Amino acid sequence: MQKSQSAKNFVGRVTTGGLNYHKDTHAFDSSMVPDKARDAVAEIRELTAADILCLKPPAWSKSTYVDRTKYYTDQLPLRKKKFEIHIGLQDFHNLDPHANKIYKGTELRNDYTGWNVSTYFEQNELKKRLKNLTEKSSEATAKVSQKLQGYLKPSMSQTKFNEKLRDEKISDNELRNKIKEQYLYECPKSSAEKTSAEVFKRLSEYKLKVKQGEIANMNTDDETYRPSLNRNLTHNIERKRVHDGVWMYSEANQKESWSCCMCEDFNAPGCIVKIRNKDRWITISL
Ligand SMILES: [Zn+2]
Repeated sequence: MQKSQSAKNFVGRVTTGGLNYHKDTHAFDSSMVPDKARDAVAEIRELTAADILCLKPPAWSKSTYVDRTKYYTDQLPLRKKKFEIHIGLQDFHNLDPHANKIYKGTELRNDYTGWNVSTYFEQNELKKRLKNLTEKSSEATAKVSQKLQGYLKPSMSQTKFNEKLRDEKISDNELRNKIKEQYLYECPKSSAEKTSAEVFKRLSEYKLKVKQGEIANMNTDDETYRPSLNRNLTHNIERKRVHDGVWMYSEANQKESWSCCMCEDFNAPGCIVKIRNKDRWITISL
């Protein structure tokens, strides 16, 4: 009796006797779920789970989804691919040219009325066309190759880097042995691991010192920490002379002259001096 009462609390069991359940009911009974349904749910869950760590075996995409609002070429993420080639995440592969072999086409039509069914073709004409096409395509390929001149594939750059590291190791070998000898003289009982670690540390410290010395030597004596005043001490001031009167006939002079200063020369410099400081802040709009 006790058992059947506690079983009633489970939600999802056919013997529960009702569809509703209380808020505080916290357990679902899954023992009555058929194995077939359970397997189906598990399969779908596995199929739709995100494969972040790439643990699933590789499979073909079965999707036939086509975005009909775009052209076929735009559906391919070509732009993304080009960008990835540009920044070095992908490689650019030059495709080998196709073999210059011409196959005779297979005619599949049944009704030939109104069609030229002749299969005669001029071998030379075809060769000529193919030659033109090949020339065009090789020109295009040459253009692309010219653009990619000096491009280093990521794998090649990695190989070069490794070679450089290897060369460095070989050239450092003598120095490394010297440091090791010195260290073993200081600590004769040091273990092999500790020795190699200490040698590595001393070598990198030595290299850093050499590098710092090189940089220090690059600084010339002309360089100084004093501020450069040749920009701050110059004044950008514009002086302009103008007449504020008019060029007119003057009764007093009995001839034409400037009305402001009675100057009789039309081209004489103005009697008013205008000074414009170009460095001054313009605060009129504030
Ligand atoms: Zn004047």
